[in-house]
Amino acid sequence: MQVEPEKNAAMLLERLDCGVVHLDDTGKVLLVNSKAEELLHVQRGRVLGRRVDMLPLRTPLYRVLSEDSQDAPVEMSLEGTVIQVRSFGLPAGCGGGELYQLRDVTAERKERRQREEFVAMMTHDLKSPLTVIMGYIQALVGEKAKIDASLHLFLGEMDKSSAKMLSMIDDVLDAYRLEAGLLQIDRCRCDIRPLLEGCSRDGEREAAVHGSSFQSELCDEIPPLELDSKQISRVFANLIGNAVKFTPRRGTITFSSEVRDGFLRVQVADTGIGIPPEELPRIFNKYFRAQGAHGFKGTGLGLTISKAIVEAHGGSIGVESTAGKGSRFSVLLPLREEGSHLSVKVQGQETD
Ligand code: ADP
Repeated sequence: MQVEPEKNAAMLLERLDCGVVHLDDTGKVLLVNSKAEELLHVQRGRVLGRRVDMLPLRTPLYRVLSEDSQDAPVEMSLEGTVIQVRSFGLPAGCGGGELYQLRDVTAERKERRQREEFVAMMTHDLKSPLTVIMGYIQALVGEKAKIDASLHLFLGEMDKSSAKMLSMIDDVLDAYRLEAGLLQIDRCRCDIRPLLEGCSRDGEREAAVHGSSFQSELCDEIPPLELDSKQISRVFANLIGNAVKFTPRRGTITFSSEVRDGFLRVQVADTGIGIPPEELPRIFNKYFRAQGAHGFKGTGLGLTISKAIVEAHGGSIGVESTAGKGSRFSVLLPLREEGSHLSVKVQGQETD
């Protein structure tokens, strides 16, 4: 039996496991498939031919279709179901107007939350024994004189590796806290110059171990800032750590600051491997690691966390880079910013 192509297309749409809604250029509903009826609790007979903006404001169809979901999918919770909406403008040849695709992502989101909770629990539990091990290593370092000199090197390596492991665990835990809105930022008035000097000293040591040189170009006279100094130190330590890590031996890392136009600008520049232009826009995404980062240890979380911390201070973070030549990360912190205690939350923006 021959089925007409249009009827065939309509039958296929009915069988799809995702909702489809088509509006014409004036916002009139032209099509609602049965999955969309189910997801939006609507009977198509009641809405076909009607303009969406004339529907009662609280109807799910109105709520879902009035979101701007063209550039990136939008997620909405409707009576316990999480629906992901994505819309596409259709060319006149395909009937024009706007096509909406609706997916039920409730199970996926629940699974993701459970996975994250599991990772958070695991990393938290890994931290306690690691802290004990680090305590004993530190105790042995303190007793260096009593220990055979041939073991000093081993001890130093154990100390470095356990500190690295702890910092990676902290990154995973903080990424979870960020997602759950639990990363606390406690700001108070502080003098940032000693903080920058501390980061600079640590950076100098790190660069020396790595065989690179470190230049510090810090400005004087920075007015006191409202900061969470622990979290902001972490941002600079992460940027400096990355600069050292991604710069081959005998490179140069420059740590500088300046006050201009109501902002403190802190920059970390390196002469390292750089980041290709096509990867640059994704550099702050969760878990993103550029192709060139394979072979270097890391989680791909440091920049995501740093960005969230800086933005919680009303600031911004940016990067300029040339592949093979080096990178420059800039942090801008406003000199005046209200508010002192807040917790930060970022959307679950993952790399693709
Ligand atoms: P990690 O360093 O743990 O991989 P980050 O979130 O700190 O994670 O950085 C994400 C990615 O950004 C890195 O894996 C690397 O590809 C790139 N990147 C960051 N800083 C630099 C840098 N200074 N030079 C070159 N690439 C960098």
